Amino acid sequence: MEDVTRFAPSPTGLLHLGHAHSAIFARRWGTRCLLRIEDIDATRCRPEWIAALEEDLAWLGLRFDGPVWRQSSRMAEYARALAALERRGLLYPCFCTRADIAAAGSAQHGPSGLVYPGTCRGLSHAEAGSRIAAGQAYALRLDVARAMEETGPLSFHERGRGRLHCDPLAHGDVVLARKDVPASYHLCVSLDDAAQGVTLVTRGEDLLEATSIHRLLQALMGWPEPDYAHHALILGPDGRRLAKRDGAPSLRSLREGGHDPAVVRAMAGFPD
Ligand code: GLU
Repeated sequence: MEDVTRFAPSPTGLLHLGHAHSAIFARRWGTRCLLRIEDIDATRCRPEWIAALEEDLAWLGLRFDGPVWRQSSRMAEYARALAALERRGLLYPCFCTRADIAAAGSAQHGPSGLVYPGTCRGLSHAEAGSRIAAGQAYALRLDVARAMEETGPLSFHERGRGRLHCDPLAHGDVVLARKDVPASYHLCVSLDDAAQGVTLVTRGEDLLEATSIHRLLQALMGWPEPDYAHHALILGPDGRRLAKRDGAPSLRSLREGGHDPAVVRAMAGFPD
C-alpha cells in the first residue's frame, strides 16, 4: 500500500531519541513522507530549534518529500475552519482561567488533562458579547456533545488493530482556538493532515486518545479519514518515557559528540 505519512515535530526544544524513533517510523511507513513543523505557539517555538531539527534529521539520513510546511504560516486557513464551525453553532467562547477550571469542583481528569466542566457553555450571547467587548481574553471551545449529534458514533482504523471506537466526550469541550494563539493542536493537526493528503498518521501512542477528537473534526468538516499507526514510546534506562526534562540526550549532542548516525538509529529502535 502506498501511503503518505508525516513527521510533525513541535520545535519547542531539541529532538531526542524518541523523536528519532517517530521520524524513522514515519519514513519507513510512507512511500511519501512529509515534514511539518508545528510552530503555532510563538512563545515556545524558536527558529534555532527548527534549524537544529532539520540538521539532526539530515544527519540521521532521513529525507522528506515535498515542501516543508510550517503551521505558523497557515493561520488564515485555521481561521477559516473556525469560522465555518462557528457559523454552525458548534463553538462557544470560554473565559475561564486554568485556576477557574481547577476550582470548579466538577472538573475531572480525562485523557488529555482536566476535562472542562462546561462553565461557559451556558453563557448567553449577550453576556459573552459584553465580556468580549470589555476586552476579556477568551478561547473557543468545541461543543462536543452537539458536534456528536451531527456526526453520530465514530471510530478510526488503527493498522494492525482494526477499527477502534472513538470517545470524544471523554475529552470534554476541547479548545480549538487558544486565548494566546487563535488555533490549537487538535484543529491544526486535523486540518493539515487533510490538506496535505496524509493517508496514514504515524505518531506515538501518547496521542492515541487524541485521535477521537481528530476523527470528530474530520467528520464535521468532511475531511478525508486517514488510517493511523501509533507506535510505542521508547523508554529511558529507568523504564520511563524519554523527556527533555529528564535529561534525555538530544540528537544534537549525539551528533556533535561524534556518534555514528547508524548507531543512533539503532538506539532509536531501528537497527538497519
Ligand atoms: N506536534 C506534535 C508533537 O510534537 C505531534 C503531532 C502529531 O503527530 O499528531 O507532539
